[in-house]
Amino acid sequence: MKKILFYFFCACLSTPGFAQNPTPDSFLGYPLGSRFTFHATILDYVKTLAEKNPSKVKLIPYGSTYEGRPLMVAVVASPENLARLETIRTDNLKSIGLLEGSPSDKVPALAWLSYNVHGNEAVSSEAVMRVMYELLNTENTTTQEILKNTVVILDPCINPDGRERYTQWYTRVMAQSTPNATPWAWEHNEPWPGGRFNHYLFDLNRDWAWQLQKESQERIQLYNQWMPHLHADFHEMGSASSYYFPPASKPFHKDITPWQREFNGILGEYSRKYFDKNSWLYFTRNNYDLFYPSYGDTWPTYNGAIGMTYEQGGGGRAGAAIARENENDTLTLYARIDHHFATSMSTLESISSRADKTVQEFVKYHVKAQNDPIGAFKSYLVKSSGNEGRVHALIDLLKKQGIQYGLAGKTFSSKATNLGTLSEENVKFEENDLLISAFQTKSTLLKILFEAQPDLEDSVTYDITSWGLAYAYGLTAYGLKDKMTPAAYRETVVDNPIPAQAPYAYVANWNSLADLRFLTDLFAKNIRLRTSNVAFEMNGKTFAAGTLVITRKGNEALNQNFDRIVTEAATKYQIQLTPAVTGFVTKGSDFGSGDVVPLTAPKVAVVGGNGVSPLALGEVWHFFEQQINYPLTVVEGDMLGYLPWDELDVLILPTGNYGRILSEGTMNQLKTWIRGGGKLIAMEQSLNAFADKPEFALKRKKSDDKKDKEAPFALFGNREREAASDDTPGSIYELKLDSTHPLAFGYNGKYFGLIRSAYNFDYLSDGWNVGYLEKDGYRAGFVGQNAKEKLKNTLIYGVQEMGRGQVIFMADNPLFRGFWYNGKVIFGNAVFR
Ligand SMILES: [Zn+2]
Repeated sequence: MKKILFYFFCACLSTPGFAQNPTPDSFLGYPLGSRFTFHATILDYVKTLAEKNPSKVKLIPYGSTYEGRPLMVAVVASPENLARLETIRTDNLKSIGLLEGSPSDKVPALAWLSYNVHGNEAVSSEAVMRVMYELLNTENTTTQEILKNTVVILDPCINPDGRERYTQWYTRVMAQSTPNATPWAWEHNEPWPGGRFNHYLFDLNRDWAWQLQKESQERIQLYNQWMPHLHADFHEMGSASSYYFPPASKPFHKDITPWQREFNGILGEYSRKYFDKNSWLYFTRNNYDLFYPSYGDTWPTYNGAIGMTYEQGGGGRAGAAIARENENDTLTLYARIDHHFATSMSTLESISSRADKTVQEFVKYHVKAQNDPIGAFKSYLVKSSGNEGRVHALIDLLKKQGIQYGLAGKTFSSKATNLGTLSEENVKFEENDLLISAFQTKSTLLKILFEAQPDLEDSVTYDITSWGLAYAYGLTAYGLKDKMTPAAYRETVVDNPIPAQAPYAYVANWNSLADLRFLTDLFAKNIRLRTSNVAFEMNGKTFAAGTLVITRKGNEALNQNFDRIVTEAATKYQIQLTPAVTGFVTKGSDFGSGDVVPLTAPKVAVVGGNGVSPLALGEVWHFFEQQINYPLTVVEGDMLGYLPWDELDVLILPTGNYGRILSEGTMNQLKTWIRGGGKLIAMEQSLNAFADKPEFALKRKKSDDKKDKEAPFALFGNREREAASDDTPGSIYELKLDSTHPLAFGYNGKYFGLIRSAYNFDYLSDGWNVGYLEKDGYRAGFVGQNAKEKLKNTLIYGVQEMGRGQVIFMADNPLFRGFWYNGKVIFGNAVFR
């Protein structure tokens, strides 16, 4: 035993210092790239390297996923830099005005590399093990040179739940523990919903700006504490593709600076060296643009960093090896690791070779932001009164972004641009209106998030082309050309003391997500409540249709607990209750009338599984579980034919292809259930299962195809652009709402929707047209000419009564990516009213 130890000891001494670091191969017990590595093992490797290199590595745990997997970054730096890491961090923040004081020393370049945001683009977290190993390899002259002036922050896996979903599945089906390259083998056909998404089936690479997901919230909190100079995001694309690295494709957002553009080109030069030398195929300037602000490349860019995306051909389908007919080769995981490793190195080399300049430009960017912000508006004002719930939600978002805000602090009138209508108005502002000054570190991000009509230099884009926060939050917001200093923000705290005299009822407004949470909380506490389907007036105060009326009647069994439960719940969600001493109203219908109807807690299910869009299911799932805290049952489409229908009140069909799910037998069960009182909410593409079908009122518009009149034929080379004319990747329209219908309660007859498809449905002749586009609903963003035509006089939200039940048609999905805050009440109305 002693002898063995002795030899072991000698072996350690006889090899250079770095050999104490296990290679990925020796640590894993299999060659890196021969299979996929479980998330916990990847972290074990990272932790092992950290333990063995305490003077060069610091691990920063920053949270955990919904499924409880740890999130962490590994900071790799020279011993000198690691020893003063906290000073580097705070100096960096001081240099850009996010901390008081002046930096004590020169700040090295901070390069942040994120891997595996899409879980089944699983090469990334394999490659990071080699990246970390080589950064610590003292014999690697390239990496040792990099660490002299660059601090590297590695996030080994942004999306552990998705990656693990993929890895677990792949490992189970992988042939004999060696990959089967046959493209039609089981292991190349990932099952629904796939590993791309996180637990709630959100795309984390669309969530940087909106931060609906826990992973994004926790990561960006850490990001804001570091504000790196560079952020790289590693991805994969289809397995037939080669490799993409910058320069990015058009459109570039117009506010991307000349330096950021120049650096984008430099990244390409450094990557090309590796790819040309090895004869690896690649492309640049195509597909991957820099526009929509919620990506892992653009969001850091709008925070002053150099942001980029890398895309390896492969993805979930590629497995560990796949034979490719187009290339007459076998694409292996080994090769994919080589490529991501190469661009990891080229990225670090490119920043390290101009570290000083990068840091200077970063500081310059933020000094300008604080003193001479871009954009026409120097102040943003948001009207508060009557919209407190929505304003609070907006503040939550600003906090997550690190954007400073305050209050107007005084009453004044000014000329201002309405960010919804884009028209100039004379506006009277109140003391409590929200005021956000553009003179701040994060002013570019602020400008872009509020932007109603971003300049689009090219119509072929990857994503939505408009997102203005005023639209998204349904707020009246203004841009002012003058610099204004906000007064300190004071939280207006709503309190609802129990009235001395027990009220007849409590009355609560209805127009925000907070109101929905209040409602579901009361349901959970078994409070019986009502809603007025008509507007009414009480003590000179007007209440809109949809107002909640919580009468003592029906809750007698709770005695005085009734008052405590209702007032506490309202205070929890910062809702101002109005106690009513009588059931008599001065205008409208008394609380005992047929217009004031009970609201009861429905049993709700949503369809998932093959055919259903995982993203759309995820949006519904997350809405219920995380946003309104209300029980939801997810049922697989295949199970619909076996449902105990009488146990169900509401069934939601997220977008998808329901051809197989809604067989004739299931469709008949569904109709019987609706006639008996069920409520079906059909969303987006699921409407195709009902359009022009017997008993359903939904009809497609008859096309009087006028298109292509001006051009007799299309040029093949223009095919992408031709397709764009049929398209609306996401533009803003003003919908007209029938404000007397419960589905539209909480809105004042109009709603700005994010329209993402050229819906082509006629107004219902046998049903209620609750939300629709007239001739000129277009407001902002790109919409192709043909799509624009189709979107005239089109149904968006319709309700058909069928027997004792209802079908709600939602051509548009108000829960899209969870960020269209203003759509949540419509969806809540659909479920609960
Ligand atoms: Zn991706």
